[in-house]
Amino acid sequence: MTLETHVFSIPMRTRFRGITVREGVLLHDPATGGWGEWSPFLEYDDELARPWLECALEALAGDWPAPVRDSVPVNVTVPAVDPQRAHAIVTAGGCRTAKVKVAEPGQTLADDEARLEAVRDALGPSGLVRIDANGGWDVDTAVRALSVLDRAAGGLEYAEQPVMTVEELATVRRRASVLIAADESIRRAADPYRVRDLQAADIAVLKVQPLGGVRACLRIAEEIGLPVVVSSALETSFGIAAGVALAAALPELPHACGLATVQLLTDDVAAEPLLPVDGALPVRPVHADRAALDRLAAPADRVEHWQQRLARVQQDLVRAGRDVAGVRQDQRL
Ligand SMILES: [Mg+2]
Repeated sequence: MTLETHVFSIPMRTRFRGITVREGVLLHDPATGGWGEWSPFLEYDDELARPWLECALEALAGDWPAPVRDSVPVNVTVPAVDPQRAHAIVTAGGCRTAKVKVAEPGQTLADDEARLEAVRDALGPSGLVRIDANGGWDVDTAVRALSVLDRAAGGLEYAEQPVMTVEELATVRRRASVLIAADESIRRAADPYRVRDLQAADIAVLKVQPLGGVRACLRIAEEIGLPVVVSSALETSFGIAAGVALAAALPELPHACGLATVQLLTDDVAAEPLLPVDGALPVRPVHADRAALDRLAAPADRVEHWQQRLARVQQDLVRAGRDVAGVRQDQRL
């Protein structure tokens, strides 16, 4: 098996998670027609990047479980913008659920309140509003902020990662009356079990690449017994398709997923990007756009960086005895 690799570099529309350009690798097997995205964040070491490659190889092999639904409801994401802009984003998004960034450094709780009031106004009374603090508060601040923001939003669906550690999450969950979701606390495959064991969250946010793929996440979801929200790691449509495959295969899907993030990128490598229609993503195959692959090809030094990183992580997988979908040690991906 000879795999094609395409290293891409796509500017973000706005800075998100400290990132202005999204880089990664698309793997393609011409023999089977399969595609898989490998896009571990730049600061991740090889060990953390390994499950991301398992996810890509699973996608490449087309080894996804059968879907039990044909569309996946998604939320619109509202960055830490002013109220007018927040209102416009929600209105344009066409989703029934909004995820609103709060606890942004340099901003105040009053800024968050104003943004949430604008979002509620744009969504109407039947919409759902969740917030994401990305671990930006300490425990006392979180407990106080959650009660203020729950009021400002006219009721919160849940609060994502109000504080950074699992222990703190557990404390906040006991003291606050808002449901708590764990996101940053779930970064490795063992983490969801720790969140469950410490009763630190009501909802688990699962991302397919960091947790090793669709089937691995499905197993985790079954074992932790918590409602799951499938979220993206800011991928192209190929990575998003893996998230959609998980969301489509989960027996229960009580909350909208955080998979409508292709629009955070200025461009995409797919012929028909996975963008929401009426607040949901369709469950369908994604096809590459060869012209886009050329247009979005990373500069030579970045290609070199990614090829070396990929070779190292692939070697790690082989050494760990993983059957990497027919990829042998002597093969240069
Ligand atoms: Mg989050």
